[in-house]
Amino acid sequence: MNLYKLILTKNACYKAGKTITPKGIMVHSTGASNPWLKRYVGPDDGLLGKNQYKNHWNQDKPGGKQVCVHAFIGKLADGSIATYQTLPWNHRGWHCSSGWKGSGNDTHISFEICEDNLSDRSYFHKVFSEAIDLCVYLCKLYGLNENNIICHSEGYKLGIASNHADVMHWFPRHGETMDSFRNAVKERLQAEEEKEDKKYYRVQIGAFTSKSNAEDFLDKVKNAGFTDAYIKKE
Ligand SMILES: [Zn+2]
Repeated sequence: MNLYKLILTKNACYKAGKTITPKGIMVHSTGASNPWLKRYVGPDDGLLGKNQYKNHWNQDKPGGKQVCVHAFIGKLADGSIATYQTLPWNHRGWHCSSGWKGSGNDTHISFEICEDNLSDRSYFHKVFSEAIDLCVYLCKLYGLNENNIICHSEGYKLGIASNHADVMHWFPRHGETMDSFRNAVKERLQAEEEKEDKKYYRVQIGAFTSKSNAEDFLDKVKNAGFTDAYIKKE
């Protein structure tokens, strides 16, 4: 993941200063053909590039709307893919309005994937993979798993979000679904868990500032039968 941080401190959502206990992640896509992060994230930090229309979301109400998410995935000025964190992860976002069962704003971390014209397979696979990285990172941060991840349109069906189509108007065009997305997150989480399991538990029986004292002690330890003992400098 290529993660940067630019908190949208001028957005009314940030200023509202409410926090949540994250219970899930809601995946959005922007619904406009503009893959450039600078459209939404600003001002230019040297990587984003300059938004000449100054219509990014670091203003009170972007386009007159009360809207803000926790992160965006899209293109930097040089064309490479990045993730920008735009709100503290436990800030209450304004990303899915309210549904009949309550609002995902109260429970879900949200991010927008910047859409292009939806037909570029290479761009899609890059942002799809970046979104998996972000979800794995957030799951580990908040003890969540793949079952806690939904997209906006699924949020609507669950009654916690407004009626939007994202991301299911896009993913299937490239052979993916929210289920395949969740599966990819699951596999990555399992792989990382296995890696954790392989870490050793070491037993330390001495720590010395003098090298010769350490060597003398190692001799004693080895003579006592602990022949696998060794010195590690830290
Ligand atoms: Zn959405």
